[in-house]
Amino acid sequence: MRIRTKLTLWYSGLLAIIIVIFGAVVFRVMEFTLVDSVDVSLNQTAELVIRNSRVERFGMFGAPNQASIKLPTLDLFRASGVGVQVWEVTSEGGPVLEDSSNNLGDYADPLDSAALGLTEPSVKNVFINGNEFRVLTRPVFSVGKVFGSVQVIAPLDTLNQARDRLLLVLASAALLGVVGSVMLGMWLSRKALQPIESITRAAATIAQTEDLSTRLPWHGPQDELGRLTQVFNQMMGRLEDLFSLQRRFVADVSHELRTPLTAIRGNLDLIKRYGVDDLSLEAIESEAERMSRMVDDLLLLARADYGGLTLDKEPLDLDTVVMEAFQQGKVLIKDRELNLRMNAIEPVRISGHADRMKQVLLNLLSNAIKFTPDGGTITVSLTSAHTQAVISVTDTGIGISEEDCKHIFDRFYQADTSRMRTGESTGLGLAIVKWIVEAHDGTLSVESQMEKGSTFTVEIPLLTQHLHHSDDDNFDHHTGKSRTRPRLIKVRAPHWLTPES
Ligand code: ADP
Repeated sequence: MRIRTKLTLWYSGLLAIIIVIFGAVVFRVMEFTLVDSVDVSLNQTAELVIRNSRVERFGMFGAPNQASIKLPTLDLFRASGVGVQVWEVTSEGGPVLEDSSNNLGDYADPLDSAALGLTEPSVKNVFINGNEFRVLTRPVFSVGKVFGSVQVIAPLDTLNQARDRLLLVLASAALLGVVGSVMLGMWLSRKALQPIESITRAAATIAQTEDLSTRLPWHGPQDELGRLTQVFNQMMGRLEDLFSLQRRFVADVSHELRTPLTAIRGNLDLIKRYGVDDLSLEAIESEAERMSRMVDDLLLLARADYGGLTLDKEPLDLDTVVMEAFQQGKVLIKDRELNLRMNAIEPVRISGHADRMKQVLLNLLSNAIKFTPDGGTITVSLTSAHTQAVISVTDTGIGISEEDCKHIFDRFYQADTSRMRTGESTGLGLAIVKWIVEAHDGTLSVESQMEKGSTFTVEIPLLTQHLHHSDDDNFDHHTGKSRTRPRLIKVRAPHWLTPES
């Protein structure tokens, strides 16, 4: 059942119950009031009769006293519409009609025979000639005994008419109310739920046409539905971004993989035609390596994306890692005319993952080496400022334009550096660096000037609190720094970064 129908049924059902209860109460109160007013008038008349009547006593030849009740001579009752009968009820013989008001004409039967002679007043509805009347019977006492009864009668046709009319009015009002409420309820719920229907329609259109640029128009107030529409539109915006990112990503991956594949196939063709030669073999090897590097990087980013890659962090002497990477950098530039310098190195400890942090440094260093022409200088430094360890890698290379700086951390983004682009480039290195730095709660930034050089800065929070270094005498708990000089460790190139030969 639709919400609209359900709402209307609930609403109208409740209203119908309220109307019925209210109508029943009104009807009962009115009926009671009308009957009560009849009873009051009957009682007043009976009282009047009893007060104005005389019981006459006379004895006849030693027989017991006899008495009779006489109505007042004045016919008081014609106008009031109330009739009166006076009955003498003695133990001997049946009741005898003593007197009756003129408006009862020749009617000589007891108005309520069962109540004659009762010691208590009684009221009853009776039917005479098919008409309903209300009869009040009141006893008349003489010398402590019931001597007779006064019966007062009033017609109920006016009261019944009034009651029937009231019932009709109430029933029609109830019917009108319920029908009106059903119609109003349907209209209101349709109006209230209309935006939901348009949201549903829009969602269905999006599902059918796969057009994620569709947005819901909303001109109403910022109520629940306004907010729902807003959230829906935000969600659509986010989905649109994600889908376009995904499309771009797939396009980039296929494009980037095609380049080495084309090179490999070209070289294989050459080998087929002219036989094996060292140059072709080297080219195939280097392209295959590039592809496998790219696949490794992609896997890493994909695992990071879906959350399958977590970093097991532990207290890490960052200076040691920087030194190791620095030494590795020296191996990387051995065939180049470049100057690699360590500007400053402070002993600092962070909570981190040694291999990943080294990957950060090697990616930055290899970029600096790639994009700095021979004769240039690359400077590495590790310092600490407040609560942060600060690593910077500066080169005097080709620099990055302001526009490119905004995008170089995106996947597959490569500035127009065809001048220096080598077979090693995949456009994924900085995206990986960014992910690792952020996974260490750090930040990565770049400053660059075209043709002058670039500085990449990584800031990672120092390890100061919580961890127990009590068994480590060389750790300064206040500064988070190690008191020892960094150890120099033998350099081994990681599998994903092969030094240029
Ligand atoms: P890759 O180096 O494989 O192309 P990265 O993600 O590491 O991919 O770098 C993205 C782009 O950023 C590079 O293609 C280059 O245009 C630019 N870039 C990175 N580091 C430097 C640098 N030190 N000097 C100049 N340009 C750089």
